[in-house]
Amino acid sequence: MDQIKIGKFIAEERKRKSYTQKELAEILGISDKTISKWERGNGFPEVSLLLPLCNELGITVNELLFGERLQEVDYKKKAEENMVNLVKEAQESRKKIILSALVAVLVIIAGTPLFLAAGVFEMETWARVALIATGILVIVLGIIIACILDREAGAFECPECEERFLPTMKEYVMAAHTITRRRLKCPKCGATKYCKRVLTK
Ligand SMILES: [Zn+2]
Repeated sequence: MDQIKIGKFIAEERKRKSYTQKELAEILGISDKTISKWERGNGFPEVSLLLPLCNELGITVNELLFGERLQEVDYKKKAEENMVNLVKEAQESRKKIILSALVAVLVIIAGTPLFLAAGVFEMETWARVALIATGILVIVLGIIIACILDREAGAFECPECEERFLPTMKEYVMAAHTITRRRLKCPKCGATKYCKRVLTK
């Protein structure tokens, strides 16, 4: 998806309908900041807003995704292209989240027997220490890999200004979090809030 092109297209079609950003925002029940963000190519409408937005602008979702008016002949081909691209983008992010969870589970499975062995079997102290150290190393490495994959999957959205951004590795690791949210500082408005994870930037 070319967000800049889509943004320009939304702006053009909005003006064609003689709506201000504020008027269109009111119809859709969102803030005019959100519209302005889309039009600058910095963010993309939530799935639930796609149909209402297209209806208001008198365009199809397919034209929106492609960022231009389509001729009858092109239509089917572009529709298929859009579909494939969307599925691909969603899959990439989802794959990373699943992979990250998988890595976390695997390292715990791999690390635990080392601790158990160190506790259960008779052995020299140095061997016991080595086993425990290896177990810790495996788990730490695994967690680092899981974090890298998880951070790269999608982005986080600021609840204040709806900016979508990728935190730095340090911010990501240090942040308090729940399963779907992380307490991060928004690079745009500066608010530190629980930002929800979104699959696309
Ligand atoms: Zn913000």
